[in-house]
Amino acid sequence: MSDVWSGLVGQRETGTTLQAAAAAAAQVAVGQQVAVGSMSHAWLFTGPAGSGRSVAARSLAAALQCVGEGPPGCGVCPGCRTVLAGTHPDVRMVVPEGLSISVADIRGVVATAARLPALGRWQVVVIEDADRMTEGASNALLKAIEEPPARTIFLLCAPSTHPDDVAVTVRSRCRLVTLRTPPPEEVAAVLAADGIDADTASWAAAAAQGHVGRARRLARDGDARARRSDVLAIPASLRSLGACVAAADRLVRSAESEAASITTELDADETQALQTALGAGSTGRGTATVVRGSAGVVKDLEKRQRSRATRTQRDALDRALVDLAGFYRDVLLVQAGAEGSRAHPDFDDEVRAVAHVVTSAHALQYLDAVLACRLALEQNVKPIVAVQALTATLRLPAA
Ligand SMILES: [Zn+2]
Repeated sequence: MSDVWSGLVGQRETGTTLQAAAAAAAQVAVGQQVAVGSMSHAWLFTGPAGSGRSVAARSLAAALQCVGEGPPGCGVCPGCRTVLAGTHPDVRMVVPEGLSISVADIRGVVATAARLPALGRWQVVVIEDADRMTEGASNALLKAIEEPPARTIFLLCAPSTHPDDVAVTVRSRCRLVTLRTPPPEEVAAVLAADGIDADTASWAAAAAQGHVGRARRLARDGDARARRSDVLAIPASLRSLGACVAAADRLVRSAESEAASITTELDADETQALQTALGAGSTGRGTATVVRGSAGVVKDLEKRQRSRATRTQRDALDRALVDLAGFYRDVLLVQAGAEGSRAHPDFDDEVRAVAHVVTSAHALQYLDAVLACRLALEQNVKPIVAVQALTATLRLPAA
């Protein structure tokens, strides 16, 4: 059985809250009274990376448009299915294509959301990475959620590591949903339910450190496993300046190629869809005019694709850094004699090799350096510059 809530891993409380809210919204939609506070026009989903913020938001969006029998969110009716497939006309997804969400993006979506729903019961706007809204964008959104149109619901998502990145004025008007990092056993159970064998499932769940999407990729995609191995081989290899420079290069290149493998396919699909929409290949009166007017649209798409490529690269690099941070945490665990839950039990030899040649104070500095590098990348420092500074810091002391 797969209703829209089945994608929420290890979030039982959140599931209950959202189901109740969807049920209340369904009553409101048919003109019934509900208790004050049981349904909200603005939501903010926060939680660590991989906890399923956008999955939760999409599940609620689907349940709001559910037209099935029984409790909203059946997962099989046309409402649920089209929302999950991203084709429901009354659900708009705002995803930053570059590093930020502009005021123009928000104004456009707010204007559309103010109309009555075309098909469903609600106009739903999902803003992923709401922390990437510019100040202007936040202000434009604030106006809309202060006095939301009667049939409009805003669902915002933002990582909990930087709650301040969503303007407090916006946050204070949202109902807050906090997701937690799902425990590895629950992630493993989800993978197993997908048909992955138990050993691979529990290994991938541990290696992904609570990130469900990454656990899936590690379990299924040999390239993703190979990239992880490359990254985890780095710490023990940093014995000379040359090795540090080479490792920085490898990390950045690997993020680039991972991002390229994700975006090339997306780009091609979008370009094809746009060309079809613009009537490429058709002939007859009016075609020339359409094509001339469409040059701007195509250029706009290309611009968004370029900034998405940049962002995907940064996300890939960030995942590599999360793996490295896990490695140094494992080093500290070994040094402390704590054999508890290690992030990378399959790299025990490498972890012990490093634990053997550095002090705990060193290992802690290394861990801090990885976290500082993540921060630098978030603040738009050029990847190669940030990563070279990092690997130079991670250099092992001469034996
Ligand atoms: Zn449904």
